Amino acid sequence: MLHINHYYQPDSLEEAWQLRQKRGSAVLGGTGWLRLGEHTIQHAIDLSGLNLDYIQEKDDHFLIGAMTTLRELELCQPLDQVFDGAFAEAVGHIVGVQFRNCATLGGSVYGRFGFSDLLTLLLALDAEVHLYKEGWVSIERFAVRSQEADILTEIRIRKNREIAYLSERLNANDFPVCAVAVSKGKDGWRCTIGARPCRAKLVRLPEDTEGCDEFAIRKIAKKAAAAVSYGGGMRGGPAYRQAVAEVLIRRGIQALNAKGGQA
Ligand SMILES: Cc1cc2nc3c(=O)[nH]c(=O)nc-3n(C[C@H](O)[C@H](O)[C@H](O)COP(=O)(O)OP(=O)(O)OC[C@H]3O[C@@H](n4cnc5c(N)ncnc54)[C@H](O)[C@@H]3O)c2cc1C
Repeated sequence: MLHINHYYQPDSLEEAWQLRQKRGSAVLGGTGWLRLGEHTIQHAIDLSGLNLDYIQEKDDHFLIGAMTTLRELELCQPLDQVFDGAFAEAVGHIVGVQFRNCATLGGSVYGRFGFSDLLTLLLALDAEVHLYKEGWVSIERFAVRSQEADILTEIRIRKNREIAYLSERLNANDFPVCAVAVSKGKDGWRCTIGARPCRAKLVRLPEDTEGCDEFAIRKIAKKAAAAVSYGGGMRGGPAYRQAVAEVLIRRGIQALNAKGGQA
């Protein structure tokens, strides 16, 4: 059970940040994760009065506020059109609709969970994370850091990559056994492998992945899957996860090649 000793709803990000500097403080997202287990938050900072719930489409990017829910990401039509359903595919398997109506983008990204579908997707899209004090940080850098006492305010995603998102689950709404996102843009191909069960990692694919034949795609997928390490667990051992990653990478490349054209 989660215990909160002092609850605050700040009127500004500066006030939220000042509160976050207190010992024993924590920001509240949707509290889906925070409510698990038995612990106490001395100073709980609720961001829900700061208008951080938005998805704004600009000419060449999206800006998404930290308090946007997973359900809003799942149902957003402009995101769906630009990224060919990848957001709905990435978050649509997480627990259930009621849960996704509460869980937030900010909590999901800030948590940098090893099983995270969203982190896997955002890494492949080369997204950027905005922290109130620090400013913009690439998600690649953000993903490998430990948790900092800053406020995640929004995420920027440029519209310059095509993407395919795939995951394998033992049951429809379980944590993934493995999650993969393959993307291509003018700067080449990238693939992220998440839920290994460690944090998602980025692997760059060869430039000639475009238009490869079946045999070459299998070789690329095998090499990419072998480029990261895997752990065991109740959902599968390392060898199984790697075998699944290889298949998902192959399917991701095939899906993007089938679409043809450059982003
Ligand atoms: C049972 C269960 C199953 C799940 N299954 C999956 C799954 O299959 N795939 C998947 O990807 N995810 C899964 N999740 C994770 C879920 O999708 C969310 O990522 C998770 O609940 C965190 O989001 P939240 O809004 O609830 O954050 P919270 O629980 O409120 O916060 C999480 C952490 O982020 C911090 N935080 C929150 N917002 C901010 C902010 N704006 N700035 C700075 N720090 C912040 C909090 O202080 C806390 O440390 C699961 C979660 C649960 C409980």
